[in-house]
Amino acid sequence: MTENESGAKVTSEAGTALRRSTIVSKDAESALITSFNLRPADGVPPAPHRAGQHLTLFADLPGKGRVKRNYSISAAPNGESYRISVKREAQGLVSRWLHDEAEVGTPLLIAPPSGSFVLPESDARPVVLLSAGVGLTPMVAMLEAAAAERPDLPIHFIHCAQNGTVHAFRDHVRELVSRRANLSATFVYSRPEPGDEIGRDYDEAGPLTLDRLAALATLAEAEIYVCGPLRFLRAFVPGLAARGVPMGRLHYEFFGAMEDLFGDPPAEAPTAGTAAPGPAYTARATAGFTRETIGATLIDSAADAIIASDRAGDIVLWNAGAARIFGFTQDEALGQSLDIIIPEPFRARHWEGYHETVASGESRYGAGDMLSVPGLHKEGRRLSLEFTIALMKDEGRVTGMVASLRDVTARFNETQALKKKLAAAEEAATAGVPPPG
Ligand SMILES: Cc1cc2nc3c(=O)[nH]c(=O)nc-3n(C[C@H](O)[C@H](O)[C@H](O)COP(=O)(O)OP(=O)(O)OC[C@H]3O[C@@H](n4cnc5c(N)ncnc54)[C@H](O)[C@@H]3O)c2cc1C
Repeated sequence: MTENESGAKVTSEAGTALRRSTIVSKDAESALITSFNLRPADGVPPAPHRAGQHLTLFADLPGKGRVKRNYSISAAPNGESYRISVKREAQGLVSRWLHDEAEVGTPLLIAPPSGSFVLPESDARPVVLLSAGVGLTPMVAMLEAAAAERPDLPIHFIHCAQNGTVHAFRDHVRELVSRRANLSATFVYSRPEPGDEIGRDYDEAGPLTLDRLAALATLAEAEIYVCGPLRFLRAFVPGLAARGVPMGRLHYEFFGAMEDLFGDPPAEAPTAGTAAPGPAYTARATAGFTRETIGATLIDSAADAIIASDRAGDIVLWNAGAARIFGFTQDEALGQSLDIIIPEPFRARHWEGYHETVASGESRYGAGDMLSVPGLHKEGRRLSLEFTIALMKDEGRVTGMVASLRDVTARFNETQALKKKLAAAEEAATAGVPPPG
């Protein structure tokens, strides 16, 4: 994050220009979800968005510094402000701060809207917007936009909530769909409360099943958009694909970490030895997983160190994993030579290989070769690293390198200890004495 001296221009780590914005209204939508309207502080209209896209916001939290989170824009473009609608997570850092501390007038920084979870260009196919919980936020924006500008686009808005207390935007959605005959809404409550009246507050008692969904909407013809909690996505995305909805017409947005979505096999996945993994594992550009968002997710992760360096070997990207493994913060590392993480005796050999690769454009290592080298922690202690590298090129000329490094010090030390023990045992066996314990 950089800020120029006048404080006027701010950019994210990735170099994206951020705009100072202010919360101009704060409205409860349900017991858990509150909407915030954000307006650029300079009075210039916000960058236009497509309904369904999200914002990345940066909030200055007391004692925590600047924290970044993504929020879908929950309203159609209006040329003045963005609305986001945030669920208060019981232990959540930013959502609790927004609910409990942020007020009208609180400043935030926001990156331009992004994401490809947006309505299709054509009105040819009916659209099903299927959401659960706070996953309705991009759907409300899409419904608003369509109600205003797409008279020929049929939309069925299907939303699952536990009950009326936590059901956001109920009256708003009912009003939007009342505007045209080709818009409809179905609300499914999994645990209706005594005050919730079927036919007035909700339409069906849940939970929603695939069979019920198939009865509600003509799935085979539709463009289907799914957003909701992990279990919901894992149930409906592979389930709909298994019912013949082509992946090109199945769009989904996930509010959590990618590794959660793809981590464990979904409950519905075929067991080992039967069919191939379900379609939830296939990449799909239409699902909001662009190269940029996937790349940013990897870089933002603190798991492995991701370090990019320019032709000269100066560090140009230093992620949270690098800070965790090597002990240098981003500010300390950026602009420094890679020497800060290379133990002195290995530097000459490292630079020989580095400059040779920059000049030739060819790495001496094959794609995917795992390299093992010693590394240096900020505190001077030796690390054992495994890493792969990729060359960054512009029209064939090497502009820099990206390394993905993993700290394997514990495993390396364990292997060394085992080797020593084995050698001692072999020696003892040869000499006819009992091995050490
Ligand atoms: C594209 C996109 C769009 C999104 N749109 C929206 C949106 O429209 N509305 C919305 O509300 N969210 C949205 N999100 C999610 C949002 O970005 C945040 O992840 C969410 O608000 C939680 O952030 P947080 O800082 O409050 O929680 P974090 O502090 O990041 O915690 C994440 C989760 O871990 C739990 N947790 C944290 N600490 C603990 C602990 N000590 N013990 C147990 N559990 C713990 C929290 O309860 C929370 O569920 C979106 C995400 C993406 C990627």
